[in-house]
Amino acid sequence: MALIVQKFGGTSVGSTERIRNVARRVAKWKQAGHDVVVVPSAMAGETNRLIALAKEIQPDPDPRELDVIASTGEQVTIGLLAMALKGLGVNAKSYTGAQVRVLTDSAFTKARILDIDEQRLRADLAKGCVPVVAGFQGMDEAGNITTLGRGGSDTSAVALAAALKADECQIFTDVDGVYTTDPRIVPEARRLHTITFEEMLEMASLGSKVLQIRSVEFAGKYRVRLRVLSSLTDPALPIAEEAQSGTLITFEEDEKMEQAVISGIAFSRDEAKITVMGVPDRPGIAYAILGPIADANIDVDMIIQNASVEGMTDFSFTVPRGDYAKAMEIARKVQEHIKAKGIFGDNKVAKVSMVGVGMRSHVGIASQMFRTLAEEGINIQMISTSEIKISVVIDEKYLELAVRVLHKAFGLDQPA
Ligand code: ADP
Ligand code: ASP
Ligand code: MG
Repeated sequence: MALIVQKFGGTSVGSTERIRNVARRVAKWKQAGHDVVVVPSAMAGETNRLIALAKEIQPDPDPRELDVIASTGEQVTIGLLAMALKGLGVNAKSYTGAQVRVLTDSAFTKARILDIDEQRLRADLAKGCVPVVAGFQGMDEAGNITTLGRGGSDTSAVALAAALKADECQIFTDVDGVYTTDPRIVPEARRLHTITFEEMLEMASLGSKVLQIRSVEFAGKYRVRLRVLSSLTDPALPIAEEAQSGTLITFEEDEKMEQAVISGIAFSRDEAKITVMGVPDRPGIAYAILGPIADANIDVDMIIQNASVEGMTDFSFTVPRGDYAKAMEIARKVQEHIKAKGIFGDNKVAKVSMVGVGMRSHVGIASQMFRTLAEEGINIQMISTSEIKISVVIDEKYLELAVRVLHKAFGLDQPA
């Protein structure tokens, strides 16, 4: 019999009725003889509500206190779910991150898991008990409560699966797997039976929030077998069927040989672009501009420097939209310092990315992408590529159109 970590997202535990359904599903696996560890998120909307409350008191909340507040959403669901399980005759016990001892660093609101003490969980499992562990949270060395960043329960689940050497980590969510793109934007999107770990990593990092990127990184590092599947099916669905459902993240690229060149399209609205114009083109300029941005802990994503004309160039880069104001302020100071002619910012841009390991062996994907966007009159502002992805920055107002036309142009709506 297997050891399985089952994670349930916000919608999946969004009401007491849904929590009862989660309990039925878990009980089914338990009663079939499997060892199960359950990791719920907070009820849908709850984390947003808690963060908004904090902001009513302090517009830019103290990060330590914000984590104390935001982590409570999961503390409620572990208690409710443990009770629902006991109501079904399943021995269960709730744990906060700190009670397990999910040790993290002290980067409040975006902490990283350093270590998990799995002793208590193992002891419970040995007694036939189902540990119900709060997602999204941990504790640092000094005993402070920390959270792992939005969507962090995925990472809690995969990290627990790695620590326990579980046979599989199942991420139950409100869609029945990983799709060729967000099915909320493109109804014709298709579910993928498998996606390679590398592709999933790109999709997550480029904006597909079906899995938090760090959870995919963990799965890769510790070779955790990871599956995304639906929590909205009948909880009594036969295990043999459920075990094969959804999308499996595979480590075998060969399995994909027969499939499409492009596996999926990811997008992100969390983008802003800053251009420093008329920059004297001399060594050290990129550092002069980006150094202070990095010092302010702002992640720079895409960077473009134009060819120099009469010793002058333009320099553009993108930052997360939440850091736009801060980045503009810094860039303005730099502009004065390096005597650049001007500065221009745009926080209404978006990034669209096509991902697929098949790109390695196919040429012409980029030009087909650019042609498709051109035919719709969508201007490409920036481009970046890697072996298995192409990303473009465009005006945000064309984002949905771009995703739809690319999805169709690359035949992603057709069976592979
Ligand atoms: P949970 O609360 O279960 O963690 P999330 O909202 O974080 O759920 O993630 C699931 C959502 O991810 C889906 O409802 C879907 O809208 C979105 N999503 C984005 N890209 C994809 C994709 N490629 N495949 C499936 N879902 C996607
Ligand atoms: N509840 C947290 C959030 O909303 C973590 C999660 O759902 O994964 O971000
Ligand atoms: Mg999520």
